[in-house]
Amino acid sequence: MIAKVIVDISASDVDRVFDYRAIDGVECGSRVFVPFGRQNIEGYVIALSDTTDVPQEKLKDITSVLDDRPIVSKEFLQLCDFMTERFHLRKIDVFRLFLPSKMRGGRIKSLEKIFVYLNPDYAEVDPALFIKKSATAQHEVFEYMLDAGAVEQSFLNANFSAAAVRNLVSRGIFLTRLENVLRTPYKNIVQKDDRVVLNPEQVAAVDTILSSDKPTLLFGVTGSGKTEVYLNCIENTLRAGKTAIMLVPEISLTPQVMRIFRSRFGDDVALLHSGLSDGERFDEWRRLLTCDARVAVGARSAIFAPLDNVGLIVIDEEHDTSYISESNPRYITREVAFFRAKYNGAKVVMGSATPLAESFYAAEKGEYTLARLISRANKREMPKIDIVNMCNEVTYGNSGMFSAPLVEALDKCLSAGNQAILFLNRRGYSSYVMCKKCGYVAKCDDCDVSLVYHKDENLLKCHYCGKRYSMLDLCPNCKSPHIKQGFMGTERIVEQVKEMFPSARIVRMDNDTTRSKDAHLKLLGEFASGNADILVGTQMVAKGHDFANVTLVGIIDADMSLHFSDFRAVERTFQLITQVAGRAGREQKPGTVILQTYTPGHYVYKYASAYDYEGFYRKEINLLQTTSFPPFTDIFRVLVSCEDEGAALDATKLATDRIREVAAKYPNAFVYLNAMRSPKKRIQTKHRMQVLMRIQPHRDDIRAEIYAAADEVSRTFPQVTCFTEINPNDLS
Ligand code: ADP
Ligand code: ZN
Ligand code: ZN
Repeated sequence: MIAKVIVDISASDVDRVFDYRAIDGVECGSRVFVPFGRQNIEGYVIALSDTTDVPQEKLKDITSVLDDRPIVSKEFLQLCDFMTERFHLRKIDVFRLFLPSKMRGGRIKSLEKIFVYLNPDYAEVDPALFIKKSATAQHEVFEYMLDAGAVEQSFLNANFSAAAVRNLVSRGIFLTRLENVLRTPYKNIVQKDDRVVLNPEQVAAVDTILSSDKPTLLFGVTGSGKTEVYLNCIENTLRAGKTAIMLVPEISLTPQVMRIFRSRFGDDVALLHSGLSDGERFDEWRRLLTCDARVAVGARSAIFAPLDNVGLIVIDEEHDTSYISESNPRYITREVAFFRAKYNGAKVVMGSATPLAESFYAAEKGEYTLARLISRANKREMPKIDIVNMCNEVTYGNSGMFSAPLVEALDKCLSAGNQAILFLNRRGYSSYVMCKKCGYVAKCDDCDVSLVYHKDENLLKCHYCGKRYSMLDLCPNCKSPHIKQGFMGTERIVEQVKEMFPSARIVRMDNDTTRSKDAHLKLLGEFASGNADILVGTQMVAKGHDFANVTLVGIIDADMSLHFSDFRAVERTFQLITQVAGRAGREQKPGTVILQTYTPGHYVYKYASAYDYEGFYRKEINLLQTTSFPPFTDIFRVLVSCEDEGAALDATKLATDRIREVAAKYPNAFVYLNAMRSPKKRIQTKHRMQVLMRIQPHRDDIRAEIYAAADEVSRTFPQVTCFTEINPNDLS
């Protein structure tokens, strides 16, 4: 029997199938060791066959089979084909998504521990008959073991004499056995019945989701109780004997959320998120593989949960950018979900208070079923959003980042003993260093992006390559000493708040303060427990946390994401405002939102402050249509990067020529086609160029030809990196 094997090396020249002679125990989907060159490496058996083109004398045997069962199911073999084709990926890069990273290369295994227990033959016998009177340590541990059951050996060694334990084991008075121990996170949360009675809207939503043969878009305002709807659908699915996957943005996987799932589903749920140790992650994954857990909850990669018979896939906060993987392997989670749903006959529900315009559009066209939750489950009012015109503040002589109304509201909030959240769009996005006299902006030598000032170290840093520069005293261009540290990172906000409210306790949450594992959970915990009065943070404070005491949300510079070079910039701004606003007044106390902007007339603020998603959607979708952006086109970008500028130029030229040939074949399909330098011209000394296209949507035929053109570029210019993105979040 011949095994067709994909080897675990990510390189284009080995991205094909290799033939080996199968040995006993090899099945389709087995993980195996195979001889490759002079070494043994891991691989995956994707098929078994009777025939091979490899001559018998050259054919090698598989070295060994790893694992006690095949770990890649038939479904995942097909999913791999789908993903390689759809997203232009190497097979091995897709396989690597299918299992916990540390499992590859044998770096992690099941955790086995030695357990010691009393040999029953000795249980009823007087120990004086077989333990010398002087051996008090042996008597002590024997005494303990009489009614202790099986105890971990390490525990005995730590609490009793290890020599005594060894002696009793060696004489067969104690017996030992190896046991698999599961490293289960949040294990000690007890199952409790905290079910609420669904309101009629929620009941209708559950019915719609479970009866629709199309994916359902669950459009429900913040606080409308979408989580209860998901939980209910999952329960129904389990009752029908099927399994379920629930995806949430990584940042929303708070202990709060995980507790909800553990308390509702107990050991039936496996949690997959980045805060787990490698051992925990492996064990949770393994419980899904062995059907010991039937519900997988996790971030994007949980879509690859090794579950059979999937009956439901939930994508919560479906508009979240984290569902698009933007580094290799690039993929769109929703499309993987649709594949798995189709394969398994599963239901899909995508929920949001601010769906992507393209999702709402798909619902309007009937590609998705629409379910709505119009009212808040807890009957609370939405907080009032006050728009503050910052230009007026400047006119009145206030050029700081806090408007008078925001300071006043903060004062009121703090003196009432309540909590506030101050939200800044993006870490350091605008904290560039600028000469006020000539307009010079400090940029990274290698990357051509603005440097960011880090006050705590008095340094300038490039956020793309990490290169550090000393702070400027004089402008290198005009020698003026009037250097403005642009405005603002979260640090600057904290500093100013401290000046105004010296006794306020402040927690800062951004990429800098949350780098270590679990840091963001700790910071949130600190705030939630009332140990801080003000939470200052970026995007990550916007996600679904519930803080009962928050009565004020300040949006420092709402415009920032508006000027981002992205066709979804306005949409993202709307989503962010709605989301952060949802943080205020979740419980008994009413909330206020103060939104500071230099462009108060922008339509996004009118709709956001009225909580009018649909009004905003209409305006936005019309704009997207007239300007031919997704969903009315697909944006393709073939990105070329190389240290050698000449090679990058030549490669881009080849790509452009080939794509122009494709465009000539499909005269009406291309709305836009042009080659140029990328907005970020260089990253880490690599020059970046791109061919940018907008094409009629859903053109699989054209997509295949563009992938082929990119492949030709890679083959012709091996020193060049060339890849294709479709509708990426970030076009910089
Ligand atoms: P969303 O995810 O839509 O923003 P949540 O699921 O977080 O909303 O629900 C908001 C609050 O309403 C939660 O505290 C939840 O426990 C509560 N809730 C949800 N459904 C009901 C219900 N049927 N009756 C009472 N309270 C509910
Ligand atoms: Zn200058
Ligand atoms: Zn740089």
